[in-house]
Amino acid sequence: MAHGALDPFEADAGAVIPPTLYALRREGSSESPEGLLSWVVGLAHAHCLGPRTLVKYLLEQSERHADFWSDTAYFERHCATVNGLGRYALTMLDALGRPRPSKAQCMTLLGLAHLLPFNGEGLLARNPRWCPACLCEQARKGQRPHHPLVWSFEHYRVCHVHQGFMSERCPACGAEQAFLPIYPSLLHCNACGESMIVRPPGPADLEVTSSQEEISAFDRWSASALVDLVSRIPELQRAGSLAQMQQNLVDLAASLTQGNRKGLCEALGLQPRAINGWLNKDERPSLALLLRFCHGLNLLPADLFLANGAIGRAELPKPAQTPSSDRQERPMLGYRQRELLERQLELVLENPSDYRGLAAVAHQLGLSRHALKYWFPAQSKEIVLKRRMAESRTLERRYRTDHEYLQQVITELVASRVYPSRRKVERMLGQRQLSLMRPDLYTAYRRRLMSLQ
Ligand SMILES: [Zn+2]
Ligand SMILES: [Zn+2]
Repeated sequence: MAHGALDPFEADAGAVIPPTLYALRREGSSESPEGLLSWVVGLAHAHCLGPRTLVKYLLEQSERHADFWSDTAYFERHCATVNGLGRYALTMLDALGRPRPSKAQCMTLLGLAHLLPFNGEGLLARNPRWCPACLCEQARKGQRPHHPLVWSFEHYRVCHVHQGFMSERCPACGAEQAFLPIYPSLLHCNACGESMIVRPPGPADLEVTSSQEEISAFDRWSASALVDLVSRIPELQRAGSLAQMQQNLVDLAASLTQGNRKGLCEALGLQPRAINGWLNKDERPSLALLLRFCHGLNLLPADLFLANGAIGRAELPKPAQTPSSDRQERPMLGYRQRELLERQLELVLENPSDYRGLAAVAHQLGLSRHALKYWFPAQSKEIVLKRRMAESRTLERRYRTDHEYLQQVITELVASRVYPSRRKVERMLGQRQLSLMRPDLYTAYRRRLMSLQ
C-alpha cells in the first residue's frame, strides 16, 4: 500500500511508515490530542491484532530494540511512559516510523522534555484511567473510542468535563487495566470483558474508584491546569524555558513577598526551600510540586515557563478558608467505617421496639439525614417504612379510643334520658380535645343517632 499518500494522519515528508501498517486518523483536536498509547490500541484494532502483538512486532523491527528489550519489563512497566517525555515515547514513535518532529509527537509529552524531569514525581499515572461519561460521549458522537493525552497525568484525577473521578478499575471485577492490553479495546475490561462505560449506580461504585475521598478544589483546579498545559505544548516547546521560569520566580518573590523566597513558599504551604533547586541548581520542577506552587498563586503552570506577563496576575492565597458545607453534608466514609455503621443499622432495624425516624438514627450514628440516605439507601428506606408502620399503628390505636369515647358519651346521655344533641355531645367531646368537626367522629355520631330512632 502506498501509505505516504493515503495517510490522513500526517503528511510529513519522508515519513517512514512500515509498509504493512494501515493509516489511522487520530481522534481529539490540536488542543486536546489523543494519547499515543490510545492511538496504538486503535491501530491494533484496525489490524485485528492484539496491541501487544502489534507493538512487539513493531519494536522488533526497530533499530532501538536491542538497547533495552525485555518483553515483561516493557509491557508491565516501561510502556506506561509511552505518552510521556522519555525514551519510551521516542522509541514508540521510531517503531511506528514517525519522524521527529511530527504530528505524532503531539500525542506525547515530548514537547515538554526541556521543562519537566523525565521521571518526575507525579507526572504520569501508574495505570490507565478513563472517564466513563467521556467514553460514552465519544461513542454517541461516532468517534473511535480513545483516551485523550491529558488522561495520562497522575494529577488528572477528575474529568474536567464531567467533574467526576477518573476510573482506574473495572466497574464489574475491579481489575486495573493495562496500557497495552491484550485485546484491542478501550471499552472492555481486559480481565473480565465487561463494558467499561457502565457505572453501577449508587455509592457501591465509589468503593471501586475512590471511597476514601471526595473531589477537592485542588483536584478540580489541577484537571483544568493540565488541560491548559497540554493545549499549549506547541507554544511551550517553542517559547518556554527554564531560564524564563527562574526569572518569573524571582519576579514573583519580588512582587508578592518583597523578594523573600522562603516567605513565598511558606505562604503557599510549601517547605521554605521548596523552589531553591529550581532557582539555584537548574532543576526541572516536578509536576507535583509545580501544581501545588501554581495552585497557591492561582497561576497556570504553563505561564510560569513563558514571558507573557501572566505572573503579574498571581496573588497569594487568602489565609482563612471555610470548609464547604458539602463536606459536612456528605462525609466520605472508609470501607471499615461503613461496615461498622451497617452493623449498627442492622441492630436498629432488628429491634422491634425501636421506631425512631431517620433523623434520630442518623444523629445516633453521627451522620446527617442526607448522608445516611446517601450511604445506606436500602437501610434508610426500611427505617422510614418501619417508622411509618409504627405511626399508623399508633394512629389506629388513638382512633379506636376516640370512637369508644364518643359511643360512651352517647350511651351515658341516653341512659340518663337526655337526647344526645349535637351541642351536648360536642361539649362532652371537648373535654378530651375532640370534636364532631372530625369527619370520622361526625359520621359515627350520625350513624348512632339513626340507630337510636
Ligand atoms: Zn468525562
Ligand atoms: Zn473486569
